[in-house]
This record gives sequence, structure tokens and C-alpha cells, in this order.
Amino acid sequence: MRTTMPEMFWHLMDGPSIKGATCAVCGRWSPLNDHHVVFRSQGKLFRDGKEVPKPTIRLCGNGNNGTYYCHGKAHHGLLHFDYRDGAWWVLETREPCKVQEAWEMDGWLKLDWLYKEERSIERSADLREAIFERGIDYDG
Ligand SMILES: [Zn+2]
Ligand SMILES: [Zn+2]
Repeated sequence: MRTTMPEMFWHLMDGPSIKGATCAVCGRWSPLNDHHVVFRSQGKLFRDGKEVPKPTIRLCGNGNNGTYYCHGKAHHGLLHFDYRDGAWWVLETREPCKVQEAWEMDGWLKLDWLYKEERSIERSADLREAIFERGIDYDG
């Protein structure tokens, strides 16, 4: 029982799991599925001899039903997550890339509204629009 996860991913393990009533990124109501932010292939982290559970973020889609839904985007290297300053952040890229490459890019959006009691669908729509616009700008 030892840590196989590269150190660059460890900070993600401090993030809380997000189990919202809608997709954490775009606000869709269904289909919803919990995404493991650190992939199985990225290894395991042990602290004090105990395996640290991997945080999950509830997203739309199921991870293998194409890249229309957020979960599919996450599994195709198009939607990336980071955890810093006590919050989850998201970045959508036009081209697939590794999360450690995405971390070097600009345009990350803070999912700070996740932590508020009152989550409005309007807020989700704003965020979806911001991500969409960001995607259009990405080549520039
Ligand atoms: Zn979504
Ligand atoms: Zn997933």
C-alpha cells in the first residue's frame, strides 16, 4: 500500500466532492454522473497508511457518451479541473490536452458558486456561456 500518484496531482485530493442537483459546470439537470477528478490511471495517494478517497464532481453525461456532455469532455481531455485557493476551477479547451498542460493556460473559471446555498440556473447559464465564449477564443 503505497502512493503511486505523481505529486503534481496531490493538491486535487484536498478538494471536496461536489454532489449537486445539476451538473457542476453547465447546470444541466440530466443525465448526471459523478466524475473522479483524478483518474484511476493517475494512481493512488496514501496518507498515514490510509488511501485518500478521490474527490468526485457531479457532471452531466456518463464519461463515454461523446463530448457533447461535460463528463465526456472531461474524459476526452477537453474539460479540466484544478483545486486551489480553496475552490474548484474549470477550463474547457478546444483541443484535447493533459490537465498538467491545461494548468499552464489562461482562462480558468472559478466554480465558487458551487459552495453557495442558493444556486440559480441563471448562474449556470452565465457560466456555460463564459465557457463557450472561452472555447471560441482559445485559438487566438
Ligand atoms: Zn455539464
Ligand atoms: Zn469521469
